Amino acid sequence: MAHDVAAGPAKGKLVVRNIGLLLSGDLARPILDADAIVAVDGRIKAIGRAADLDLDSADVTIDAKGSPVSPGLIDSHCHPVFGDWTPRQNQLGWIEMGVNGGVTTLVSAGEVHLPGRPKDAIGVKALAVTAQRCFQNFRPAGAKVIAGAPVAELDFGREVFEELKALGIRHIGEIGLGTVAKGQDAKRVTTWCREIGLETIMHTGGPSIAGSHFVNKDDVLEAQPDVVSHINGGPTSIAHADIRVLCEQARGALEVVHNGNEKSALVALEAALAAGRLADVLIGTDAPAGSGVQPNGVLRMITLLASLGGLPAEQAFCLATGNVARKRSLDAGLIAEGYPADFVFLDKPQHSSAKDLLEAVSLGDIPGIGMVVIDGLVRTGRSRSTPPANTAPTVG
Ligand SMILES: [Zn+2]
Repeated sequence: MAHDVAAGPAKGKLVVRNIGLLLSGDLARPILDADAIVAVDGRIKAIGRAADLDLDSADVTIDAKGSPVSPGLIDSHCHPVFGDWTPRQNQLGWIEMGVNGGVTTLVSAGEVHLPGRPKDAIGVKALAVTAQRCFQNFRPAGAKVIAGAPVAELDFGREVFEELKALGIRHIGEIGLGTVAKGQDAKRVTTWCREIGLETIMHTGGPSIAGSHFVNKDDVLEAQPDVVSHINGGPTSIAHADIRVLCEQARGALEVVHNGNEKSALVALEAALAAGRLADVLIGTDAPAGSGVQPNGVLRMITLLASLGGLPAEQAFCLATGNVARKRSLDAGLIAEGYPADFVFLDKPQHSSAKDLLEAVSLGDIPGIGMVVIDGLVRTGRSRSTPPANTAPTVG
């Protein structure tokens, strides 16, 4: 398994044919009328019916054998540190296992699990830049880890955030994991960041671990972050009534995570639907905080929202793909021309009582993954973390 960026993106022409169902990641049109994809140099060039596309002289051909295909899943919320190691769980290979769960892009919510992490401005800047640059050069199983998410502290002036932006940092870590947590302080930081062009995310709910902070609905409403991180708690949730208020009044994206409160995730879904804000709902895991590393965490959230939440399964996939890409300006998450060739081949699990993938998800069965492609390169065959997919592709 290649572990470095030098191994991608793919060179040449990739053809995927015999796709049984093509999910787009786009809520406006979650299912595409297509059974084939052409990618060139790791990016999608054409999508359509095989008869209408130029499928000749491919360098690599994948026969989906009728398997459905989804865009690579995006984990909107996780806490990487360095390498494919999490000190929180003292576990190796957790990102590679996430790829086995269909995740091709991960967004850091802060490298806060680094033992002895610095909290002075110079240390925080150095850590963010180092984490970001390391993951630009290191891609476990091809995963794209968008890291470098510095955590704000009370003694940071505006110049700290300006310097972070100048150093190439794109977003800050969860407000609330450091000493900046409450309304006015948080608002000062989100205001600066908005002016400077840094994306802001804000922890919501009880402290994730002794020493971090409680953030309530009033703090979130005063700060108005770009992303209301784990509105269902990380893992301790705010009250259901407060979740409903945030779904109506918080202007940022509404994120639900696997390592949060599952009942609260369903309350948030219902409130977001009532407010006409499904396009603002994002899925993350918060791994490895709260409940540890669960490679199928994103798939499990999709299944939870579709089965217990009643969301049509093809829409549930959009919350972990196109929604995250659009709300967070990521180059990922959609099966559309020009986007990276990040594909998850997945199907109903073998011996599911459902007739197909979408029915399986709506019944609460975790799908099986048969292959994951990132930037046009095959990165896994049959998943090591899902049940076996009913159909799985082959490479010709
Ligand atoms: Zn959090």
